[in-house]
Amino acid sequence: MYGPAVYLFETEEHLAIRATARRFAQNHIAAHGAEWEEDEEFPVELYRTAAQAGVTGIGYPEALGGQGGDLGHVLVAGEELILAGRSVGTMVGLGTNGIALPPIVRFGTPEQQHRFVTPCLRDGKIAALAITEPGGGSDVASLTTRAVRDGDHYVVTGAKTFITSGTRADFVTTAVRTGGEGHGGVSLLVIERGTPGFTVSKKLKKTGWWASDTAELHFADCRVPIGNRIGPENGAFPMIMMNFAGERLGLAGQCVAIAELAYRESIAYVKERKAFGKPISGFQVTRHKLADMVSRIAAARALVGEAATRVLRGEQPAGLAAMAKNVATDMCSFVCDQAVQLHGGYGYMRETLVERLYRDARLYPIGGGTREIMNEVIGKLEGY
Ligand SMILES: Cc1cc2nc3c(=O)[nH]c(=O)nc-3n(C[C@H](O)[C@H](O)[C@H](O)COP(=O)(O)OP(=O)(O)OC[C@H]3O[C@@H](n4cnc5c(N)ncnc54)[C@H](O)[C@@H]3O)c2cc1C
Repeated sequence: MYGPAVYLFETEEHLAIRATARRFAQNHIAAHGAEWEEDEEFPVELYRTAAQAGVTGIGYPEALGGQGGDLGHVLVAGEELILAGRSVGTMVGLGTNGIALPPIVRFGTPEQQHRFVTPCLRDGKIAALAITEPGGGSDVASLTTRAVRDGDHYVVTGAKTFITSGTRADFVTTAVRTGGEGHGGVSLLVIERGTPGFTVSKKLKKTGWWASDTAELHFADCRVPIGNRIGPENGAFPMIMMNFAGERLGLAGQCVAIAELAYRESIAYVKERKAFGKPISGFQVTRHKLADMVSRIAAARALVGEAATRVLRGEQPAGLAAMAKNVATDMCSFVCDQAVQLHGGYGYMRETLVERLYRDARLYPIGGGTREIMNEVIGKLEGY
């Protein structure tokens, strides 16, 4: 073995967090994950159970109801949820607080933090992040959902799409246009469920991540109090970009976890499955496939670990985070494809875990910034 599947930055504390997340996933997800994936939904109560178990509060200040900790702790908890829970859709559904709350924690007022963040961390309220629109997601600076000031409210008109946890969110951290064209006219508003004019227009069907719900949202003259604006008016673009860097490392970490799971499943299968009178692990080509899989996992883990370590040192390695996402994404697609191949016909069957992981893996070169946009980020930071 290349060693226990851990990051180089890990300490005893990370191992304890792994144990907590693993216990939660074993007790509350593993037995039901496959069924929830088919149902395209997990029970909404799971948010509360996860909050009470201290799993979804990892990485948030204790003063706000979180467990404390940093990006490293978040990465390892996420990995264990995938490894032990065996339902990527459930993990990413539970995880939307991780993209919707950070802008409020970083840039919100204490009143906003207690009003929005604490109920999520303590009671399992659900938060979603809405940036992408039906007209486009990559070009964030061109978003068109409009928020016009009217007294002490904004009147919001427009639509968002592909929003994870969107059908069930108690509130949505939403990017809107309050000013002129371009990145200088964008603000963030927290739009609460039940606000007149805010509706879920569609629950979307997807290739993978089935257990997580994905929604199209509609805003028709939806009045949102000015007190729900996070940070300065027209000042949200840098906040959104900062949030993306964290999200990308999180997604890269999920790729490492998914690949690790597919690799483990494959090892177990090839030792058991026989062909031509011997286990298929007896063929050199099988062992070489596994060796390629684990080598790429180790390489991606090293890069994700380096990017995370730099964040923990106070750097903002946006380029490295983009590289880590692309490297981990490609690795995950490769490993899941090989895992399906090693499982033969069973690898193509819905009852087999690697079949689902193969579909789940397809999201990662798209979500949180596409592979092409990552390369744009890298090119810009490299100066060409
Ligand atoms: C399952 C799922 C969950 C998601 N969850 C969320 C969520 O919770 N919140 C949220 O806000 N969004 C979410 N998204 C949206 C996701 O972030 C976007 O799909 C993504 O950013 C790409 O945007 P787009 O789909 O509009 O593609 P487009 O921007 O239309 O891009 C289409 C293609 O053109 C390419 N392209 C675009 N610009 C360039 C360029 N400059 N150079 C080269 N190629 C380019 C892209 O790389 C891509 O290949 C989710 C998406 C999915 C599928």
